[in-house]
Amino acid sequence: MMKNKEKKKIKTKQNEGNFDAQFVCINGVSRFREHPHRERVWNYMGRAPISMCMVIELEDWVEIHNVIVHKPSQRGRGNGTAMIADIRQAFPDHHIWVNTGECSRGFWEKMVERGFIDSIENEYWWPCRDTTCTICHPTRTTGKRRCGSW
Ligand SMILES: [Zn+2]
Repeated sequence: MMKNKEKKKIKTKQNEGNFDAQFVCINGVSRFREHPHRERVWNYMGRAPISMCMVIELEDWVEIHNVIVHKPSQRGRGNGTAMIADIRQAFPDHHIWVNTGECSRGFWEKMVERGFIDSIENEYWWPCRDTTCTICHPTRTTGKRRCGSW
């Protein structure tokens, strides 16, 4: 595998049409892009460029991470739901879970109700990564930001 030429950051345009060995198919769901440095971690590109997410498999557990629905006009129209349903299809027997930002909690509660994921793990307030999101980032003056590995 040509690991050295892969980029860390997702650039949708660059990945479009880039069907090579770095994409895998899981239970009939295609376009899981292998993470360059971590095993059992994928960027799910099956709904790109409208929406993307990261999927992390750990034994019987699957974490959905870093869900992005790019354009506000495409949110709330089933695009995120369709993507999460794909992840369920790919991992039907896993316990699928998320930590959610406050602005997305309602979405994930619906996903739990529908059985597309199994649980929301964080009860605490957690701002999303979108610093323009006024739900999660009512003030930007403190500069306090969660610093994750992603
Ligand atoms: Zn938010």
